[in-house]
Amino acid sequence: MAGPRDYYETLGVARDADEGEIKKAFRQLARKLHPDVNKDDPTAADQFRAVAEAYEVLSVSETRATYDRYGHAGVSGNHRRTDNAAQAGNFGDLFSMLFGEDLFGGGRRGGRGGPVAGADAATQVEITLKDAAFGVPVDLLIQTEVGCERCERSGAEPGSNPRTCATCGGQGQVRQLMRTVLGQVERIGPCPTCNGRGKQVDDPCRRCRGVGRVTEERTVSVAIPAGIEHGQQVLVRGQGHAGDPGAPDGDLYVAVAIADDPRFQREGVDLVTVVELTMTQAALGATLDVETLDGSASVEFKTGTQAGEVRTLRGQGMPNVRSGRRGNLRILVNVLVPRALSGEQRRLVEQLDKALAEKNYADGGDGILGRFRRHRDGG
Ligand SMILES: [Zn+2]
Ligand SMILES: [Zn+2]
Repeated sequence: MAGPRDYYETLGVARDADEGEIKKAFRQLARKLHPDVNKDDPTAADQFRAVAEAYEVLSVSETRATYDRYGHAGVSGNHRRTDNAAQAGNFGDLFSMLFGEDLFGGGRRGGRGGPVAGADAATQVEITLKDAAFGVPVDLLIQTEVGCERCERSGAEPGSNPRTCATCGGQGQVRQLMRTVLGQVERIGPCPTCNGRGKQVDDPCRRCRGVGRVTEERTVSVAIPAGIEHGQQVLVRGQGHAGDPGAPDGDLYVAVAIADDPRFQREGVDLVTVVELTMTQAALGATLDVETLDGSASVEFKTGTQAGEVRTLRGQGMPNVRSGRRGNLRILVNVLVPRALSGEQRRLVEQLDKALAEKNYADGGDGILGRFRRHRDGG
């Protein structure tokens, strides 16, 4: 298969097209390619999916900027919502998701009839940098719709006898001719009489009042993977809101925030920390314990260590969330100079100053900035 097509090309717009032009181009293509108006063209669904994916990336300024800079590699995974909806065949959902309006008007869903799937739920959690590095199980208290146990999601009071729905003959779906933004379309939709269940309930369940679901607080255990980044989401399948009997439950999205760690600054898979040497330690050389994610490491600093030097501990950074391979810990040296001196100390430092010649300070390198850049680039 050839690589993915350029998103601008897919939508047929110029690279500097504004928001309005992008939206207009997508609407026109969506009308033309929507699978519900192209039942005889098997390629329409794929084309529609490609167009929707391009729109999802280019319609948001952040993802568009990333795409402009890095191409498809920069935004892979960002259109997961499009993928999910498109793979489920839920083009109506996809449309309403992208436009915030229901393509076919009314109803909880623009899908294909039958029982209604549960909605997705979302929550958030804050973890430490160390937990982000090694992964952590968390228990989250969430409130979602769950299946009613009293009626086993049927909505009918136990012991009662629901009738087969007369409107749909128990199929749960009916053919409807609908006026939509795409023109008039014949489509199969959930039966309005029984809401897609195929049964008519005369004696609704007393716990859920016939809905088949109740809202409950419950605990969900989620494994946060090692290497997760601040702002990323963990998808937990089937832990969202309950669906109708026979339809899947929604998914749960957990947004992960990572608290700042006073010791480490994260730069991708690398970590940066600062170690402070006194003026005399730097001049004489010293061995110091440096805090790492895993504990501590003994690091030797040679005679004449300079402020701004960077030492690199390989494999002591954050893991890549996919490969598990760990980046490096970069140790930036700061040299402490006494802020105050007693009379005696001042006399000694003055004596030292006279004893030291200019050549004792000669560097011959490229200065602090050069050193920092060299180590940052993998030195
Ligand atoms: Zn019930
Ligand atoms: Zn019905």
